[in-house]
Amino acid sequence: MSDTTADAPSADITGRPGAGAVLAAEIDAGKGRRGKSRDVRPLRRLLPFIAQYKTDTAFAAFFLILSTISTLSLTGAARLVTDHGFAKSSSAEINKYFLLAIGVAIALAVASAMRFYFVTKLGQRVVAALRTEIYTHVLKLDPTFFLKTRTGEVLSRMTTDIAIVETLVGSSASIALRNGLMMIGAITLLMITSPKLTLGVLVLVPVVMAPLFLFGRRVRKLSAAAQDRFAEAVGFAGETLEQLDTVQAFGRERFAVGKFSGAVNLALTAALTRVKARSLMTGFVIVFVFGGVAVVMWLGAHDVVTGAMSGGALVQFLILSVMGATAVGAIGEVWGDVQTAAGAMQRIDEILDSQPSVRAPPSPKALPTPARGEVRFEGVTFAYPGRPDLAALSGFDLNVRSGETVALVGPSGAGKSTVFKLLLRFYDPDAGLVSIDGVDLRDADPVEVRSRLALVAQDAGLFSGSALENIGFGREGASDVDLRAAAAAAQAQGFLEALPQGFETTLGDRGRSLSGGQRQRLAIARALVRDAPILLLDEATSALDAENEQLVQRALNEAMKGRTTLVIAHRLATVLKADRIVVMDGGKVVEQGKHDELAARGGLYARLASLQFGERAA
Ligand code: ATP
Repeated sequence: MSDTTADAPSADITGRPGAGAVLAAEIDAGKGRRGKSRDVRPLRRLLPFIAQYKTDTAFAAFFLILSTISTLSLTGAARLVTDHGFAKSSSAEINKYFLLAIGVAIALAVASAMRFYFVTKLGQRVVAALRTEIYTHVLKLDPTFFLKTRTGEVLSRMTTDIAIVETLVGSSASIALRNGLMMIGAITLLMITSPKLTLGVLVLVPVVMAPLFLFGRRVRKLSAAAQDRFAEAVGFAGETLEQLDTVQAFGRERFAVGKFSGAVNLALTAALTRVKARSLMTGFVIVFVFGGVAVVMWLGAHDVVTGAMSGGALVQFLILSVMGATAVGAIGEVWGDVQTAAGAMQRIDEILDSQPSVRAPPSPKALPTPARGEVRFEGVTFAYPGRPDLAALSGFDLNVRSGETVALVGPSGAGKSTVFKLLLRFYDPDAGLVSIDGVDLRDADPVEVRSRLALVAQDAGLFSGSALENIGFGREGASDVDLRAAAAAAQAQGFLEALPQGFETTLGDRGRSLSGGQRQRLAIARALVRDAPILLLDEATSALDAENEQLVQRALNEAMKGRTTLVIAHRLATVLKADRIVVMDGGKVVEQGKHDELAARGGLYARLASLQFGERAA
């Protein structure tokens, strides 16, 4: 109903830079969808995870029931002790009933401990499985998904939302189930003890339930709003931390802090509103439950005086009523949690349900073996999903023979990187076709396509592990010898051996402890170890000193040997060495040929070359 709009975020407090109105609208639409979950049905998604652990589930259910029965039996013991334990003066009788009560208490203790163990264990296992499932799924998603959902948002779903679900399966669900059973058991026993008084209690139930549900709904909505605000703050913080040097270089720390604290304060306000609503709800529930019970007890006291009921029965009724009321109160308390978890689960579901737009066809066509390494673009037109009006490639044709080295050159925004992205099949073209060894990439399994390609990205793309781990990332199961050989071929052995722990040295976040040239050589080693027939090289634009330049060039020569190579060229040496230079502009090929021919022609290449390679080109 009106809930949809209630949770929609107000102004865009993160002020996403350059994201564009379309993107912002899509993100907002995503949040609007999230706010709709009013029911707890998203939690059904947990059932298959629970079903994986049948034994634990069976034990949890058994001890749940056993502990409830023990608790309820305690009231029977109290009745017997009151009616007989005190009435008969023999101390043997007293002992008997008290021993019975102790026996029930021990059974209750054991059952409760076992229930806690199995329910919590089950919850933890379910959450662990869910965590792995989300991560596995997210790794399959393509850039189109991350256009709609920022990385920070995905991380917040993987952490905050899972933590909420963890609270549910680890404790709230157990509390709800236990108290639900307790409530049913207590009502049944109350009926048996005194139908008249029970009717009085039951009349009270709807009176208690009504405000409970109204408040519960409000609390859940407010929780979702608080989570949204928090996700925004985390998303913004993540972005600035990733680009901390930019923030610091521009001296924008205060601006960033201002924006972050603004988001945090909004989250705080949302959380406080939720806490207020929840406190109010708790108060209402207690007043209604205990007030009502007091009235019923007053009637019961009169029944004992007139002899319609024994003292023990009234004691039992009293304890049962308190148990039942406590159970209702507890359910009311955790119902908010259950609903919050339903909201969290819905957000997790959104990730689990999103399918990458690039997928393997039902029966993918195998790429031929042995691989030839031929690449073909035929009349390819493509616009990024975030910029549908702007064709990054339009009518782009390129035919790369096996073993050929083609240098892609062109002004910024010409579409050079886009060629790589289509080849890696991060996207499918809007028109035309891209093929490797004669197989249309849309007919092939993306995993197989990518196994034919080795990428050396401009920013190297290293991870925080050791040098050896980073090189090994290129190919699963590569031997230590392979890794070291690749490092040697990529001219990386020297500097790696000189590190404190040699190849085992951890490189810091994204390999930042290395120099630009060293990072590139490591990235080349990683591509070499992959041993793929096609090499995609996005040359770094950053200037290297002469020695590093030479080493990187030597590493590249090694990498290009016997492979088809597509290189986005920023260095004269690469351009001179290429079999062919393809000059791109506005998503099209405008010129191609060798350096000398193109330079002599006086076209776009000649202009670019004199600008980019400076006097060296001349
Ligand atoms: P550069 O040398 O600056 O890296 P490039 O030749 O590699 O440029 P591309 O990155 O292929 O150019 O970009 C081609 C066009 O597509 C540009 O107009 C760019 O703004 C646009 N573009 C690139 N990536 C995206 C994206 N993820 N979403 C929307 N538009 C994009």
